[in-house]
Amino acid sequence: MGPDPADPPQAKATMEQCACVERELDKVLQKFLTYGQHCEQSLGELLHYVGQLRAELAGAGLQGTPLSATLSLVMSQCCQKIKDTVQKLASDHKDIHSSVSRVGKAIDRNFDSEICGIVSDSVWDAREQQQQILQMAIVEHLYQQGMLSVAEELCQESTLNVDLDFKQPFLELNRILEALHEQDLAPALEWAVSHRQRLLELNSSLEFKLHRLHFIRLLAGGPEKQLEALSYARHFQPFARLHQREIQVMMGSLVYLRLGLEKSPYCHLLDNSHWAEICETFTRDACSLLGLSVESPLSVSFASGCVALPVLMNIKAVIEQRQCTGVWSHKDELPIEIELGMKCWYHSVFACPILRQQTSDSNPPIKLICGHVISRDALNKLINGGKLKCPYCPMEQNPADGKRIIF
Ligand SMILES: [Zn+2]
Repeated sequence: MGPDPADPPQAKATMEQCACVERELDKVLQKFLTYGQHCEQSLGELLHYVGQLRAELAGAGLQGTPLSATLSLVMSQCCQKIKDTVQKLASDHKDIHSSVSRVGKAIDRNFDSEICGIVSDSVWDAREQQQQILQMAIVEHLYQQGMLSVAEELCQESTLNVDLDFKQPFLELNRILEALHEQDLAPALEWAVSHRQRLLELNSSLEFKLHRLHFIRLLAGGPEKQLEALSYARHFQPFARLHQREIQVMMGSLVYLRLGLEKSPYCHLLDNSHWAEICETFTRDACSLLGLSVESPLSVSFASGCVALPVLMNIKAVIEQRQCTGVWSHKDELPIEIELGMKCWYHSVFACPILRQQTSDSNPPIKLICGHVISRDALNKLINGGKLKCPYCPMEQNPADGKRIIF
């Protein structure tokens, strides 16, 4: 087994580097904070001083009379004071620049800036088309994050044409999620009820969880909500079989309503984490029902890139050191396999047992008539005199009888 790309020492090193930059960043933020406070205070004092002077002048009723020598001195002192304060603030502000540039230096020192070497130029061959794919990925991500106005803006600026059918599910999900964040269950409940059948097919307990949360909120209202809570409990009826235990707990909690739920063994029902959980459940189940990914393709790619980049940088260094630059031709494959973790397993992959290569559209897996599967490239290599001998069983057969299979 090769070294695990996400092994702890490397991860630790990266964390230390991040901490290094963060320390510099904290210093800048602290300086900004102190500067802001100082700025406000000096300007406040100055304003107070000038205001007082103005009031004095107005009070003395000097309109139309020439300035006395004393007054003129006071005025010019005031102007000087204003000038000094502003100058001091400006020079203090300049001092922050050095701290800001230290952050930049810390980034340069702690992170590799030269990542171009591991990107193939051919990725951008069909520039316009690629650019559009990238823009679309960004727009989708923004929609998914609920940043609708930013997405719209980007569409306009990049003249990207996104049709309503694409946007609609995101708009709906975001509207419901926003309400959930405000602890408003109504839109989510309405959605769950109208999609009840398909949610059940997905084994989703979203609707039950929403009803439960509504019930819990009634409980939190104390004894005067008891009747309402009892009558709401009829909503649990369709879920009686699947969620018997949870329903019993909720019914049990009613006994403590008069005493106060927060002082009862049922206080966990009032936990705020239920709200975070319902947002998660809703996002996961609604995305799965609508055929959307929970995380946008852009965030998945980004996260995968973060795992893969350090490994690829190391490999590149090794390749250069040993001067075997031909090893990585940058076609559409990486020089090594990089484990991204279970989270990134979306579908099965098939590696040809003969060529030890992952199959692809251009080199798909082929099932031979004996049932063994090899890649098409391997099959072509094994043809001898128009006949193919299976490398496993070894049945002789006509190469044209092999069928492409899809995993
Ligand atoms: Zn065979």
